[in-house]
Amino acid sequence: MAIYQSGVIFADLDTSISDCWTLESYKKRGGYKALTKILNNKISQEDVIAEVKGSGLRGRGGAGFPTGLKWSFMPRALAGDKYIVCNSDEGEPGTFKDLDIMKYNPHSLIEGMIIAGYAIGAAVGYNYIHGEIFEVYERFEEALDEARKAGFLGKNILNTGFDFELHAHHGYGAYICGEETALLDSLEGKKGQPRFKPPFPASFGLYGRPTTINNTETLASVPFIINDGGAAFQEKGIPNGGGTKLFSISGHVTRPGNYEVPLGTPFSKLLEMAGGMRDGKKMKAVIPGGSSAPVLPADIMMDCNLDYDSIAKAGSMLGSGAVIVMNEDVCMVKALERLAYFYHEESCGQCTPCREGTGWLYEIIHRIEHGEGRDGDLELLDSIGNQMAGRTICALADAAVFPVRSFTKHFREEFEHHIKHKKCLVEHRWC
Ligand code: SF4
Repeated sequence: MAIYQSGVIFADLDTSISDCWTLESYKKRGGYKALTKILNNKISQEDVIAEVKGSGLRGRGGAGFPTGLKWSFMPRALAGDKYIVCNSDEGEPGTFKDLDIMKYNPHSLIEGMIIAGYAIGAAVGYNYIHGEIFEVYERFEEALDEARKAGFLGKNILNTGFDFELHAHHGYGAYICGEETALLDSLEGKKGQPRFKPPFPASFGLYGRPTTINNTETLASVPFIINDGGAAFQEKGIPNGGGTKLFSISGHVTRPGNYEVPLGTPFSKLLEMAGGMRDGKKMKAVIPGGSSAPVLPADIMMDCNLDYDSIAKAGSMLGSGAVIVMNEDVCMVKALERLAYFYHEESCGQCTPCREGTGWLYEIIHRIEHGEGRDGDLELLDSIGNQMAGRTICALADAAVFPVRSFTKHFREEFEHHIKHKKCLVEHRWC
């Protein structure tokens, strides 16, 4: 169940209402007014893009690239097919916000995608949904059907001469398909593997045509920006990060879930909203932006605000807003072993440093965890990480290295204890 506060995606939406995802419910909350406003008033593509630029909206999938600027890269005057693609793959461990948007407020995404299609000159859009979430895929299909029957999709939308069709595509559950070029290959029916960039999707995207790819939360924020204005959205956040943001908080908190709060909200406030630490335990560490973001010790995190700059200054990343909270009982060696296994499993295997390096990282951390660590293992992890990061086609290799570097930096004594004493430093825990 989504939980929301002063948001733009879940504002005025009580997710306990049994039909909050229907078109009827969405229209009662002002749904499709933004699209109607644009089409009936013949607002130009340039003005729509300017409004989004003015909102300060940054990509909510992890990279944080300014959305309006991304839209402006599309060669709108170029004849032929152009596409808008939504990345609803959401495979990063700890992230589950896009799932709730599609589950409880799918029409906000559909309306956002139609507006994005209008702005960038695309007549067709695809929503690529993670392959392991069947119920949400079916609900999104139902919402598409409702929108089509109501005349918001298809030919001559609202009798304005604007045509736009939108399709849902169910992926296969591979983490790497959340990388935008792998997603495009998968959408084309090929094996989902990242491609070199450049060329970027804005010039060579889906089927070799200009394509814009945005995250689910990014696109679902667009109707608010058109209805209330970019300035109103910007004011909800901070100068270098407009609006509200959904944070998926998980781990050892009392009420894990999705919380929509203004960017710049203190982490301590989010923790309080989530009911604080479960069972009165002490917090040990937090991964603030999904499993590939560097981990931060509790005292550093408690001084952080939830925005791009504050978390970067502390040495991590806001990423997709997946906040994983760990209590004092967590063995950091065991936690890192689990993460290393994930990246090793999900490497697509194209690049030697990633294919081999993720395997070596896992193998070394695994032996440390199982009391077979050797002197020099921590230096070896450093060396392997240096040979992986920045040397591959996509960022998965970096995503595997960041946790290793940060865990061994902030919690080094736990790793050293495992190596020296062949057992865990965390009291009451058997490793
Ligand atoms: Fe594949 Fe890893 Fe290379 Fe990315 S970095 S393309 S996941 S092998």
